This record gives sequence, structure tokens and C-alpha cells, in this order.
Amino acid sequence: MTSQQLRERISTTISQLPSSVRLIAVTKTVPAEIIRIAYAAGIRDFGENRIQETALKQAELEDLPDITWHLIGNLQSNKAKKALQLFQWIHSVDSLAIAQRLNSLAAELKVSPQICLQVKILPDPTKFGWNPSQLLNDLPALNDCNNLQFQGLMTISPLGLNDNQILDVFNATKNLAKEVKLRNFINMPMTELSMGMSGDYHLAIDAGATMVRLGTILFGSRS
Ligand SMILES: *Cc1c(COP(=O)(O)O)cnc(C)c1O
Repeated sequence: MTSQQLRERISTTISQLPSSVRLIAVTKTVPAEIIRIAYAAGIRDFGENRIQETALKQAELEDLPDITWHLIGNLQSNKAKKALQLFQWIHSVDSLAIAQRLNSLAAELKVSPQICLQVKILPDPTKFGWNPSQLLNDLPALNDCNNLQFQGLMTISPLGLNDNQILDVFNATKNLAKEVKLRNFINMPMTELSMGMSGDYHLAIDAGATMVRLGTILFGSRS
């Protein structure tokens, strides 16, 4: 893809998003030079799933000051500290244990990261995340993690669903976020819904997504 084509894809995609929806450009496997083109086209939010890859890219892009980096992939406990140094947002917090670890490291590093809690509405052995009842059980303990700012929920729709089923998953995620909000935990604004990838973001937006995570539709398929 030429840089002209990339710019066109980005502006077409942005023009189709409601202004209330934040576009996270997912740049896993995409080299820093391409990120630079996306930045020039106006993108400021980038999503990555690997710590080491992100550290290398950030070093190459040091001169671009106002990027917000979003971790969208599973986080292991031994990489939690590095994650807090690299990312302002973590969309993939998927257990009480990792939340508590991030919370104590955040105090040490004097940061207060923006967090989405990853949920899975349908059982899906290939995905991480809380099921709804586990999440509701863990809320009081999560709320005690007061260095973390719990901004919302994140979900990935399982493979192999039709459009109606995908929409059901996204609507159920929205309803779960409402249920969490109703409990009025002080530390949980819970206004964000991080849902929708290249194949299903229109459905996610129909269901109320506030953040979509798009890779392929912007950068082409990953090899
Ligand atoms: C890779 C990835 C995306 C982007 O997927 P595309 O289908 O390329 O848009 C979004 N979210 C997560 C969690 C991902 O791992």
C-alpha cells in the first residue's frame, strides 16, 4: 500500500465513524514508518498487543509527543510494570489478580492508568476475560484498586457468529456496563465501551461502542 492509499483509507474510515467514537488504530506488526504516516493523517491513538514490539516502536517515534498508546492484548503479570511505562490505556485487564498487580505498581510508578475490563459474554476458551457474574462478584475488590481508573468494558466477539449474534454480544456488553454503573462504585466511571474490530465495528457502533479497535481495514491484512 502506498502512503497515499493509507491516508485515503484512514480518512474514509474516520469520515464514517460517528464523532463520539474514538478510533484506536491497531498497529501490531505494522512498522514505525507506517505509524508515522497514520499520525500525519491525524491518528493519535494506537493499539498494540506486545510489550517489546511497542517499546521498540516508541523509541523510533520519540519525536511524536502526543500519541496515546493502548494495550489491547493479554497482559502477563511479569510484564505489568513495563506495560504501565509504555501504555496510558490498558483495555485487556482480565482478572482481579492482574488488576491488583497493576494497582500496586501504579502507586510505585506514580501513574493512574485508564483501564477497560475485558469481558466475554459467551463462553469462549480462545479468549481471556471475565464472564458477567464473575465480574459482578469482583467489583468491590476491583474498586479498591484506587490507582486504576476503570473507564469501561472491552470485549471481542467470538468467531463464527452471524451479525445478529454479534450484535447480541455487543448489546449484552453495553447492558453489563450499565449494571456495573448502577452499583455506583466511586472508582468506576464505566462510560467507555471498547468493542468492534475491522469485521464487526459497524455492529459495535450500532450497539453503542465508544472506542473501536481497527487494524486490517486501515493497514491491510497482517502477514
Ligand atoms: C488485532 C486486534 C484488533 C484489530 O483487528 P482487525 O481485525 O485487524 O481490525 C482489535 N482488537 C484486538 C484485541 C486485537 O487483538
